Amino acid sequence: MISERKSRALFARAQLRIPGAVNSPVRAWAAVGGAPLFAARATGAYLYDADGNQFIDYVCSYGPAIAGHAHPAVVDAIAAQARAGLGFGASTELEVELAEIITSAIGVADKVRLVSSGTEAGMTALRIARAATGRSCIIKFDGCYHGHSDSLLVRAGSGGMTLGLPDSAGVPAELAALTMVATYNSIQSVEELFRKNPGRIAAIIVEPIAANMGVIPPEPGFLKTLESLAHQNGALLICDEVITGFRLSFGAASEKTGLAPDLIMLGKIIGGGLPVGAVAGPSRYMDLLAPAGPVYQAGTLSGNPLSVRAGIETLKLLKQPGVYERLEVASARLEAGLREALLRHEERGCVNRAGSLLTMFFGPSQVRNAEDARSSSSSRFTRFFHAMLESGINIPPSQFEALFVSLAHSDDDIDRTIVAVVNALGAASGG
Ligand SMILES: *Cc1c(COP(=O)(O)O)cnc(C)c1O
Repeated sequence: MISERKSRALFARAQLRIPGAVNSPVRAWAAVGGAPLFAARATGAYLYDADGNQFIDYVCSYGPAIAGHAHPAVVDAIAAQARAGLGFGASTELEVELAEIITSAIGVADKVRLVSSGTEAGMTALRIARAATGRSCIIKFDGCYHGHSDSLLVRAGSGGMTLGLPDSAGVPAELAALTMVATYNSIQSVEELFRKNPGRIAAIIVEPIAANMGVIPPEPGFLKTLESLAHQNGALLICDEVITGFRLSFGAASEKTGLAPDLIMLGKIIGGGLPVGAVAGPSRYMDLLAPAGPVYQAGTLSGNPLSVRAGIETLKLLKQPGVYERLEVASARLEAGLREALLRHEERGCVNRAGSLLTMFFGPSQVRNAEDARSSSSSRFTRFFHAMLESGINIPPSQFEALFVSLAHSDDDIDRTIVAVVNALGAASGG
């Protein structure tokens, strides 16, 4: 048994002063139960909890830690920047540099506005789309998450799916009514919404690879058809690449599939582990933002030098040759091991993977939308999760989150993980 005395005590202490004991719901382990681990430190592929247990970590801060936790180049850059000042309320050369890196990596991005979270990126992208079209409604997909702003917290993936709350209290019905929900990988569901709401839809917003209901790759042609449908109907296509941006290649995953989105949301990786978000796109849309244009958006700590420097250093690491190939090889190895483990134990389920994002679903033989994902067995996942933890492997505490593989995961780490998976499936299949 791993020791969890301190995590348990900290959880109890946190319950008294922090709502639900956490500052973001998934950390409470509501879906899997037990005292959630409290992290003490993390380096490379390993995370250490308050009790000193070591775990091979596949949460990776939910994406930002693609170079591994606390990569020395990133940490040194942050430390140097801290000594030079934490923020100025004035622009810096660093912001220009990061904007140049992002716009040179993403074809449709003439310009980029930095914000402090993916949530803000979503709010801002919608506001631009509504201003550009003069329309109010949007289409999003069941199970896709775009941050927790009012308009986007409708059928929004992992958090709500895990807790069984499809929507949030406190979102005005009038606002939620402007958000129309389609089915991922179903063009027909999108066509129907356009047919029923002519001239009302400002934008389709989509994760080009869904990663917040477990990983669900788009089927061939799905994204391209979305793009044409949006444009035929005078709407914008917003690709939410907060997870996928710079995760599968140096740039936007949507562009890799031949898309030219009207707006792209970024976050996570581009802040190298510190708070960040961004909206990028062609000048004709980006210049709608204040002070160039009439769409207001602002932030005291937007483009703060610590996040920006951490982001620049992380992107420099990702720019090196062979990086994405290494991630692909390690992730494919893990995928193969998971599939083999399912077969070996005659466990029903499937593994979805896109680059270094993957999910093993218990139950369904195929998962291509939120309904399929919801049909998977949470109780089976829960037993698996705890068995993995006992073996020293930290995976996200929900069936509906992606595992993140980083550059720090060695072949040996992956192999140890596969052994743990085989054992976990064996142990859990009896109970
Ligand atoms: C994480 C995430 C967000 C929200 O980003 P925050 O920084 O947590 O606000 C938005 N969209 C997607 C696809 C995400 O994975």
